[in-house]
Amino acid sequence: MDQFVPDMYQKSVYTINYDKLIERGIKCLLFDLDNTLVPIHGRPNNKKIKELFEKLTKQGFKVFIFSNSLNKRVKMYSELFNVEFYSFTCKPSSKSFMKVMKEQDFTISEIAIIGDQLLTDIKGGNKLGITTILINPISKKDSFFTKFNRFFEKRIMKRLGKNNLLMKGKYYE
Ligand SMILES: [Mg+2]
Repeated sequence: MDQFVPDMYQKSVYTINYDKLIERGIKCLLFDLDNTLVPIHGRPNNKKIKELFEKLTKQGFKVFIFSNSLNKRVKMYSELFNVEFYSFTCKPSSKSFMKVMKEQDFTISEIAIIGDQLLTDIKGGNKLGITTILINPISKKDSFFTKFNRFFEKRIMKRLGKNNLLMKGKYYE
């Protein structure tokens, strides 16, 4: 079950203590896209995300969108938010995480993944020992594939809760 336990759990990308990440030696932030930064349907708060990314870049982080979604959608948001991206990452596969390390020259201890799903973002990061940060999904609506994942996620959450490993709404860093 440890593979699903994030290193940090926060309400949203706006409540994460990024200074603490710097202290921990994190230099590269991989942001999941859907339901982490933007909803699947409906209008995202583009201005707020852009401001956050500008702030993080100024702080010295290298910021990427790191999404399982297809190229077209991810590219559109990367241009909007003015950051680079990796699309169709196939999380929880290690492949794309390894690609980032190789292409961007970061080590495992310098990367953090921030996402809303235990089965993709958190499991994928934990597999390699990358710092994992879970946030609550910004919308209740999920994509077709995520709906399946949520079904299992609910059961995993229940078990994690029973073992006092992760409780919904009980944030930590
Ligand atoms: Mg997501």
